[in-house]
Amino acid sequence: MKQVISVRDLEDMLRSGKDVRALPTDALVTPSARDLLRELEGPGSYRTAAAETRPSAPAKPVTSKSSKAELEAFFNSPEIHALKLQICDIGRRLWQRAYVDGNGGNIAIRVGDDIALCTPTLVSKGFMKPEDMCLVDLAGHQLAGTKSRTSEILMHLQIMQRQPRAVATVHCHPPYSTAFAVAGVEPPTCMIPEFEVFSSVAIAPYRTPGTPEMGKLVADLVDKHNTILMANHGVVAWSHNHVEDAYFKMEILEAYCRTVVVASQLGKPVNTMTPAQLQDLLKIKQSLGIPDPRFGLKECELCDNDQWRPGVTCAVPNQGGEVGSARATSDPEAEALVQAITDQIMAKTK
Ligand SMILES: [Zn+2]
Repeated sequence: MKQVISVRDLEDMLRSGKDVRALPTDALVTPSARDLLRELEGPGSYRTAAAETRPSAPAKPVTSKSSKAELEAFFNSPEIHALKLQICDIGRRLWQRAYVDGNGGNIAIRVGDDIALCTPTLVSKGFMKPEDMCLVDLAGHQLAGTKSRTSEILMHLQIMQRQPRAVATVHCHPPYSTAFAVAGVEPPTCMIPEFEVFSSVAIAPYRTPGTPEMGKLVADLVDKHNTILMANHGVVAWSHNHVEDAYFKMEILEAYCRTVVVASQLGKPVNTMTPAQLQDLLKIKQSLGIPDPRFGLKECELCDNDQWRPGVTCAVPNQGGEVGSARATSDPEAEALVQAITDQIMAKTK
């Protein structure tokens, strides 16, 4: 059977330092992958320019211990240039969606065992150029690049150290999500499928941005969460796929927070999916390799929105002892149990 090559395949090859020109001659290349190949090979392209200074790919993987010349050659290679362009593209999308303000926000991509490519400090994410990017080791020491690396790089690197699957990280300040971070409220659950499948959100306490303490508090959460709200600051997300996927976490969270805020203003209690319906989504999530602290929980524990006042609809008694609407369950036994608990509470308050 002929091998089908997609853009994703080409990006994986570039990331792992393979030569995309060495594709099997009978491989079927998708139209968008063919466009990328053309971009990589075209006259006047960065590949042509880089090939003049670097005739062959490095034989051994580059690490923070490689020589200055090896690091420079790697940093200026077509493979890394392609990733620099991706970072510029994601930065533009963050800025266009008003997820960043001033010089805020930063992006990092792991490009080796102990090295990462990242955005510079004091540059708007909407207007970055490939030559603005920086190469750092996992302790944050700059290895290449003329601009200084972002002051918030430690947080990205601590995520990568604690979560070996993290290949890319994105940090920004989207207003609706940041509002939840400022209020210290975890977004409620069981309302929109995309959010349940692709996001696993937690809140890290406030510390001064850029400090190792801040990075540690975030890193403590990345085992089971891919999107961290940083109290009174913003959001950081990691992906095990690629940098665009880390950016998608921002779009999904921000759209969700905005929808939840608007829904809570409509004057009606919001509806939620049932725990059984959520369970189906969690199965999909697990199959996609996305972490979630709710894997393995009992169904009745799944939709506990005890932090979220306007839309509490879970059928389980929450920590405050209140009982939410029984709408979320159709199990007569569970309904009887909820009724019994409600009666008890009512009797106590009389
Ligand atoms: Zn920030």
